Amino acid sequence: KGCEPDRPQEPGNLSGVRHIILVLSGKGGVGKSTISTELALALRHQGKKVGILDVDLCGPSIPRMLRAQGKAVHQCDSGWVPVFVDQEQSISLMSVGFLLENPDEAVVWRGPKKSALIKQFVSDVAWGELDYLVVDTPPGTSDEHMATVEALRPYRPLGALMVTTPQAVSVGDVRRELTFCRKTGLQVMGVVENMSGFACPHCAACTNIFSRGGGEELARRAGVPFLGSVPLDPELSRSLEEGRDFIQEFPKSPAFSALT
Ligand code: ADP
Repeated sequence: KGCEPDRPQEPGNLSGVRHIILVLSGKGGVGKSTISTELALALRHQGKKVGILDVDLCGPSIPRMLRAQGKAVHQCDSGWVPVFVDQEQSISLMSVGFLLENPDEAVVWRGPKKSALIKQFVSDVAWGELDYLVVDTPPGTSDEHMATVEALRPYRPLGALMVTTPQAVSVGDVRRELTFCRKTGLQVMGVVENMSGFACPHCAACTNIFSRGGGEELARRAGVPFLGSVPLDPELSRSLEEGRDFIQEFPKSPAFSALT
């Protein structure tokens, strides 16, 4: 499964992939991998087939968030077969976490080695038919971003989803991300403000621990769409820790409506 020898081959095994979304953030720890994971789960919930490409080589957290650690990537005639995270095979995942014995190994890799692996991820993974390919990138704008864009851009227009938190919002961060998108031809889909207030699991009231609305204001000033706020939700972080499907299991949880 996953190998489709009869499918006409476009270079890069991407001929069956309809939309590609890069998830970006100026800083680490703002919930970029969380948003990538939940976006994939929400799209699956809508009946879409989704692939996730984890190019956060030094901090690959998606396999854990989808309870796929320890699974193996296999080789077939048309390349690497990504790991299917569910029985229905509606979410496939490719991550450096599946290739290294020690997940910390990539921390000491130089730029060219990282870029070569990213190019291989794009050219050698047999994605098959996908409605969406969600690409989780490292924080900031680095060699990995350039390698990803250079490898993917020839085949599809690329959308960029920017994730920030109220306290991480700085004009400089967002300006750098937007400059990167403009210079590399990425289409900015919009900004998501994550950890925007604390949603109490007992009374559902939302307390703005840091501040709220900074992401929206910045998006407005930058002239890009604001896509919404996702509250800090203990059930979301617990379900990510345990590799559970938050969208399926916690429909009453405060972050659910924001994420779906
Ligand atoms: P990044 O990819 O930007 O480094 P992560 O997605 O790994 O950030 O998130 C950092 C931590 O914050 C994780 O432990 C995650 O479970 C938690 N987290 C992210 N968003 C939320 C949220 N809305 N509510 C609760 N916990 C969250």
